[in-house]
Amino acid sequence: MGETPIARAAAAVLGALRAAEARAGRPAGCVRLVAVTKTVSAEHVADAWRAGLHTFGESYVQEALGKIDRLPPEAEWHFIGHLQSNKARQAVEVFSMIQSVDRASLADALEREASRRGIRVDVLLQVKVGDEVTKSGASFDGAVALVRRAPEWPSLRIRGLMAIPPFTEDPEQARPHFRAVRVLRDRIAALGLPEVEMGELSLGMSADYEVAVEEGATLVRVGSALFGDRPARDA
Ligand SMILES: *Cc1c(COP(=O)(O)O)cnc(C)c1O
Repeated sequence: MGETPIARAAAAVLGALRAAEARAGRPAGCVRLVAVTKTVSAEHVADAWRAGLHTFGESYVQEALGKIDRLPPEAEWHFIGHLQSNKARQAVEVFSMIQSVDRASLADALEREASRRGIRVDVLLQVKVGDEVTKSGASFDGAVALVRRAPEWPSLRIRGLMAIPPFTEDPEQARPHFRAVRVLRDRIAALGLPEVEMGELSLGMSADYEVAVEEGATLVRVGSALFGDRPARDA
């Protein structure tokens, strides 16, 4: 341990994360680092595990299945990509959190599979920010409509919100988007819906996770800052 490139990168990212928490006056360790391992080999994910990273984020179910069996069973896997309803069964089997629920039809599919297995699945609602033509994410009003329907999905535990702001070089550009999501979170929390928790905010990636921490993120999803640049598919 200690000498792989991933161990060095993990130490740097965790250091920056703790520093951002301190700057923001937040408790040390209140933000969880989700290591995004899409396109990363199982071998390198295992290096990350040995470097002390224990929560991994994947965007493709099939790709994740090839790695999950090769990591210790204590590893936690979050799904962060666009989820097709026909993958709901596999998704509830292997992911402890599905961060990208953005429509009622997907919640229906997850509910069906989770209740069939007799389990409860943690989910975040993914909301769209910026006017970029991103494929995924509910509108803010759409997210409010979804939480009002929470009683239809007793096997899903709605824990908070997730968002992916448009990519820019300047992390400050993401700040208003992060802030808007936090305000939406507060607005939803104020509805006092008994089935809905709003404790989690998954905001921030390699370029802007420090700003996200300052704006209240509880989860940051970091890939390239840990594992290096990905092939063009996901750049
Ligand atoms: C790929 C991906 C990330 C990680 O992006 P980096 O810029 O490499 O840190 C985070 N969140 C989602 C949803 C992703 O698809």
